[in-house]
Amino acid sequence: MGLLFKTLLFIRSAAGHALALLLPPQTCVSCGKESLYLPVCISCREEMKASLKEAIEATETRCKRCGRILISEKEICLECRESDTIACLDGVFPLYPYVLWKKKLLFLWKTEGLPSLSPFFASLVYEAWKTLYPGIPLVPVPPRPGKIFREGRDQIDELSRCMQGLYGLPVFKVLKRLSSRQQKKLSRAERLSRTEKRYALKPAFLLPTSFKASPPEAAVLVDDIITTGATLEICAELLKQAGIKRVYAITLFSC
Ligand SMILES: [Zn+2]
Ligand SMILES: [Zn+2]
Repeated sequence: MGLLFKTLLFIRSAAGHALALLLPPQTCVSCGKESLYLPVCISCREEMKASLKEAIEATETRCKRCGRILISEKEICLECRESDTIACLDGVFPLYPYVLWKKKLLFLWKTEGLPSLSPFFASLVYEAWKTLYPGIPLVPVPPRPGKIFREGRDQIDELSRCMQGLYGLPVFKVLKRLSSRQQKKLSRAERLSRTEKRYALKPAFLLPTSFKASPPEAAVLVDDIITTGATLEICAELLKQAGIKRVYAITLFSC
């Protein structure tokens, strides 16, 4: 399975390179130089990896709750001091701040359907995972109902499959977002998690399906971006209710 996955990825990237040779020159979203390796050129990819390695070694410069880079605060950022959104999560590590051309990069991956970015993002997530949360299984944050039907793919699922196929990471797809019809079937008490009650969010759009064996001791949620942290927090709360003791999260970006 792993070999087949790697072969398919190789064919896809080789086809991408062949196609790039036929097209007019295109430029890297970061440095603006012409590159065959898109949307980020090789040297910018290397730079992203180097800055990530530095960030992984300097976790003390980040908020202990949400993982954002601290400016003049100590340990907990101002936002987290003012709100108690993050209570169940035991740690979050966003790889990069969501600024400048990183916005374009996420847009290209999510809406322009650039699956070639998934193995690249997986290599970055792997870098953080192997140092910060080694051996801990991943739990992808699930897409909204109907997303795969409408768009043909879910980027977080694609990223998780790369993590599993390329690096052999254990992935548990145990969370599910409920459709509005499913939500209506639940009683009000059932459909609101604690986080949702506190923040008057939409009724429970996530629900854990059971683990086949006993749940792991810890899990790492994977998502593209952390904004308020409420979605990750609901997921963490549900995983803890299912018996997982520690829940962390890695996101590509933080707002
Ligand atoms: Zn570049
Ligand atoms: Zn914070």
